Amino acid sequence: MRIDADKSKWTAASRRSPLTSGYYEDEEYQCRKCRRKAVYSAQEQKRDAEERKLYVWTRRILCPECHRAKLRIDARLKTYEVRWPAKKKELHNLANFASEWIQLLEEAGAYWAKAPFGMVKTLRPIAELGRKRRSSGRKTG
Ligand SMILES: [Zn+2]
Repeated sequence: MRIDADKSKWTAASRRSPLTSGYYEDEEYQCRKCRRKAVYSAQEQKRDAEERKLYVWTRRILCPECHRAKLRIDARLKTYEVRWPAKKKELHNLANFASEWIQLLEEAGAYWAKAPFGMVKTLRPIAELGRKRRSSGRKTG
């Protein structure tokens, strides 16, 4: 499938881009997460470049299913970021909160270009505190 491009609808950056042809063509790619083959269709490319105003060389990395899963995880992660400042004050819940957050970050890392090591590194000692407290509680109780 080949569709003509309307370059007047492209962003300035897209218009400046070298090596762009005057048309879009279906493009097969492999999902980074599940390794399945998927197609970035000419129609989707046209919509992305001309309506959503994305850079014309924007390429798909995840298949549609994994992309939807990533959006769900990203939305859940956002709720942790929002709750974090208030949570920091409730020290007894902090360790569990940090453990859950780490778990979600590790799940999300499979979809992202770069694993979220920095945040996990920050949260790990906080989560560990809770584990120590729980195991010392078992010894005495
Ligand atoms: Zn996938």
